[in-house]
Amino acid sequence: MTTLSPTLELACELIRRASVTPLDEGCQQLMMERLAACGFTVEPMNIEDVDNFWARRGGEGPVLCFAGHTDVVPTGPLEAWQHAPFAAFVDEEGMLRGRGAADMKGSLAAMLVAVERFVADHPLHRGAIAFLITSDEEGPALHGTQAVVERLAKRNERLDWCIVGEPSSTSLVGDMVKNGRRGSLNGHLRVRGVQGHVAYPHLAKNPIHLAAPALAELAGEHWDAGNAFFPPTSFQISNLNSGTGTTNVIPGELNCLFNFRFSTESTVEGLQQRVEAILDKHGLDWQVDWSLSGLPFLTEPGALLDAVSASIREVTGRETVASTSGGTSDGRFIATLGTQVVELGPVNATIHQVNERVLASDLELLTEIYYQTLVRLLAN
Ligand SMILES: [Zn+2]
Repeated sequence: MTTLSPTLELACELIRRASVTPLDEGCQQLMMERLAACGFTVEPMNIEDVDNFWARRGGEGPVLCFAGHTDVVPTGPLEAWQHAPFAAFVDEEGMLRGRGAADMKGSLAAMLVAVERFVADHPLHRGAIAFLITSDEEGPALHGTQAVVERLAKRNERLDWCIVGEPSSTSLVGDMVKNGRRGSLNGHLRVRGVQGHVAYPHLAKNPIHLAAPALAELAGEHWDAGNAFFPPTSFQISNLNSGTGTTNVIPGELNCLFNFRFSTESTVEGLQQRVEAILDKHGLDWQVDWSLSGLPFLTEPGALLDAVSASIREVTGRETVASTSGGTSDGRFIATLGTQVVELGPVNATIHQVNERVLASDLELLTEIYYQTLVRLLAN
C-alpha cells in the first residue's frame, strides 16, 4: 500500500466515522485534538442533540475562520454502491471514495492540514485563525451554525473573513467559488370561498375561480431585475390544491404553497407587501403564513475574495468565477456577523449521490489553496 498524504490520511479517517446527520461519531474530537496540539483554544458547543465546536488561535487583529460540517447525508440503498460507503480509499483512477469525500470531509481535512502547516511555518502570524464546525448542516440546522453564531455574536467575537468548505467547484477544483446566496422565502396561501353545488353557483363562491387571476398576476410579476451579483428574484408555485374529489361540489377553500428565491434587490417585507397587495386587489378572502428559510448574503470583491482568487490562480492557473447560484448554505448565518464569506471546496458532481467521490489530487490542490490564502491574509 502506498502511503497517503496527510490530507488524504485525515480525510479517510473522517469518512470512516459514519456521521449521518446529526451524528458526529468522533470526527470533531479528532479535529479538536489536532487543533489543540497546534495552539488552538478549543471550545465544544453542544446544543441539544448537535455537536459543534469553536476553536481559535492568535491574538488581536483580523480573524480568518474556516467553517464546515462533519455530518453527511444518508447513504441511500447500499446495493447501489460499488463499495462500502464508509470504507474510504483511493481507487486505481485516483478518486477518493466514500460518503462525505466531497461534502465535505475532504475539505475539512484540507483546511486542517493547511492550518497545521501554516502555523508551523508562521508561528507568530498576525490576527487569528478560527474554526466553526457543526454536525447539523444537512439536517434541520437549528442547533448548528446558526446557534453557534448567536453565541459568538452575544460575546462580540470578531470574524472578519470566513471560508466555508462546501463543494463549490463544478468541473475543476477552484473553477468556481460562491460569494453569496439568494434568500429563500416560503408562503402558504389559503383562499376561502363558499362551498356549494355546481348547479347553484349563485349560492356558492368558487375559490379556484377567484384565485386564478391573482395567481396568474403573481406568476407574471417582475419582482426585481437582480444586480451584478444576483439573477432576478423568482417566484414559483410548488403546490396548488382545492376541491373535494367529486365533480358536483364547488370547493370551500384553496391552498397554495409558493417560494421566492430572492436577490439583495428585494426585502422580505417588500415581497410580502407586494404579494398581499395583489391578493387584496383581487378582492380575495385570503391568509398567508410566511416562513423565511434564509436571507440573501453577498460578499463583494474585497480582501477575502482577492486572496482566494489569487491563491487559486497561483496553485491551479485558473481564473475562478464568483457565483451566487445554488441553494442555501450555512454561509447565510455567518454573514449576519458582518463577515466576508466565501465558499470554496472541491468538485460537487457526486455530492449526496451513491458512489460519492472526489479526485484525490484535487484535495492536495485545495490544501495548497487554503494554505496560500492563509499566507496572503495572515502571514507577517
Ligand atoms: Zn455540505
